[in-house]
Amino acid sequence: MDDGSSLREAAEIIQKSNFLIALTGAGISVESGIPDFRSAGGLWEKYDPAIYAHIDSFRRDPEMIWEMLFEMISLTKNVKPNPAHVALAALEKKNILKGVVTQNIDNLHQEAGSVNVIEFHGNAHHLECLSCQHEEEVGDPDFGGKPPRCPRCKEILKPKVVFFGEMIPQAALMESTMLAHSADAVLVVGTSAVVYPASGIPYIAKQNHARVIEMNLEHTGLTGSITDVFIQGKVGETLPKLLKLIES
Ligand code: NAD
Repeated sequence: MDDGSSLREAAEIIQKSNFLIALTGAGISVESGIPDFRSAGGLWEKYDPAIYAHIDSFRRDPEMIWEMLFEMISLTKNVKPNPAHVALAALEKKNILKGVVTQNIDNLHQEAGSVNVIEFHGNAHHLECLSCQHEEEVGDPDFGGKPPRCPRCKEILKPKVVFFGEMIPQAALMESTMLAHSADAVLVVGTSAVVYPASGIPYIAKQNHARVIEMNLEHTGLTGSITDVFIQGKVGETLPKLLKLIES
């Protein structure tokens, strides 16, 4: 666990930086109650993401995928942003953080007040029809236990999130690459950094000599390679502490 020296070092880097960006992953939402891919007893022990989060499976049997999606919806009902999301929104409000690139699909950064959010993998509050390209937004994704259907062609709708085997939205890819090129400091928060191309963002920034600050419960592939400062612990606790130090 961090004795405070890593937090102080990170705060100093951020205070001196001109262009801080953040890359976030499932770990930032764990304290809101959304399991990551690794949490014991998580959804992903029951449903193998390699199967259930693959576009071929959705095309083959959308009703089977919606069974998992309904379970996910019931697990994540009424979730709220936690202090880590709120701390990032506060850093943006102070014009220190220039943007958040997130791999999450849960909308919690926006609910916390972050404005410049680039969603690498889409947003579960949006639906799309793979047949006629109809799209719609859903406030509360509760469909009475039945997969939602396209109002135009009656096909089963898919959440507008990037499944394995699908392309990353081109705009998200371009915007995040531009942010990474501009960054002189990167906060990597709660991600195992194994899902490419999102995991490439800190490497792009590092090539331009950005300092990399990683916040996680455990070391990742970044830790021994490009991370300058590693802050171990729950981000719902460490990020508000970091914010306080930056403000002091
Ligand atoms: P991941 O599950 O591979 O890794 C999560 C990381 O967060 C791990 O390194 C873990 O040690 C760390 N972590 C967990 N709880 C933490 C906490 N309280 N504080 C600090 N660190 C914590 O997730 P990933 O890297 O985002 O990549 C996998 C994919 O999972 C992404 O594509 C994402 O779309 C998807 N996903 C998203 C959500 C969501 O939207 N909330 C949830 C599950 C999975």
